[in-house]
Amino acid sequence: MKTLILDINKDSLALAAKLIKDGEIVAFPTETVYGLGANVFDENAVKKIYEAKGRPGDNPLIAHVADADGVYSVAAEVTEDAMKIMRGLMPGPVTMVLKKKSSVPDTVTAGLDTVAIRMPLSEEARAFISAAGVPICAPSANTSSRPSPTTWRHVAEDMDGRIPLILKGKNCDVGIESTVLDLTRKVPLILRPGMVTKSKIESVLGKEVFFPDAVDKSMNSPGIRYKHYAPKCDTYLNVDGDREKIRAFLDADAGAGLVASEKYRGMTDKFFTLGDGAAGGAHEIFAALRDAEKSCGKILIVWDEKGEEADSVYNRVIKSCGGKVI
Ligand code: AMP
Ligand code: MG
Repeated sequence: MKTLILDINKDSLALAAKLIKDGEIVAFPTETVYGLGANVFDENAVKKIYEAKGRPGDNPLIAHVADADGVYSVAAEVTEDAMKIMRGLMPGPVTMVLKKKSSVPDTVTAGLDTVAIRMPLSEEARAFISAAGVPICAPSANTSSRPSPTTWRHVAEDMDGRIPLILKGKNCDVGIESTVLDLTRKVPLILRPGMVTKSKIESVLGKEVFFPDAVDKSMNSPGIRYKHYAPKCDTYLNVDGDREKIRAFLDADAGAGLVASEKYRGMTDKFFTLGDGAAGGAHEIFAALRDAEKSCGKILIVWDEKGEEADSVYNRVIKSCGGKVI
């Protein structure tokens, strides 16, 4: 298949809308990562997403909507907490899980009776969803198990020849995927951490939410059941920033690359930046991993930033390295 890669304008949005109407899939930018989208109500189109990514069928997709009407078109029940999240945190990099309408096919939700809903902040994403005229279900636009795409070039690396259109937008501002918040339980539950943190959610809801991931950050088992965010070469993680350890790792292998915050620049020529602080790390992590794998035989990620946002980046890097911490 020939993949068109087009700047976002009236013409390309009209083409994207036609492709969605015709049951095709389209890659598009959002503020978190690039998505691979289909009409949420078109089961055959949704199947094409799983095929293009090689995604396991038990991993559900997020319905992306442009406005509150979009939420009501896929959710069977918009709870009081959901209203608070909509008012306080949407549009933005947060996804809420609510009971689904029966019109949302099982393929979207992997057979669950719930649907994940997000309202992107990105103007480009909103323009695409509005042009399509239907909610767009989408996972990240990478091949399954690979680092998520945060530039249109990343999408092209994985999807060229597999999909008809990539909307070529800006690089993603946030850089890691949305926070996923399950609102169908007695106590709201964070299923995936992101840059919308537990404390932000608690201040908007006015009550405590549960986040099992936060219980023990050194625990390797939960969340790394599936290979996820993995570069093509062997990858390791250091979380204490011990320069002697980092130096020994780099000295042992001339092909080793370092993915780390700016403060570690200079330790090697094969340096791939995570910028400064948690926001820098979130913004750079997937691009750094995709750059590093092109010229390195081995990767060491150093992630020693502290705090809630930094922990969300940790959630990605611990998976990238398959739990191999030095
Ligand atoms: P991706 O952002 O590409 O990893 O895909 C969307 C993610 O949203 C999935 O991996 C799930 O973690 C989450 N998700 C989507 N729908 C649901 C749902 N109905 N219940 C719980 N989590 C969901
Ligand atoms: Mg993904």
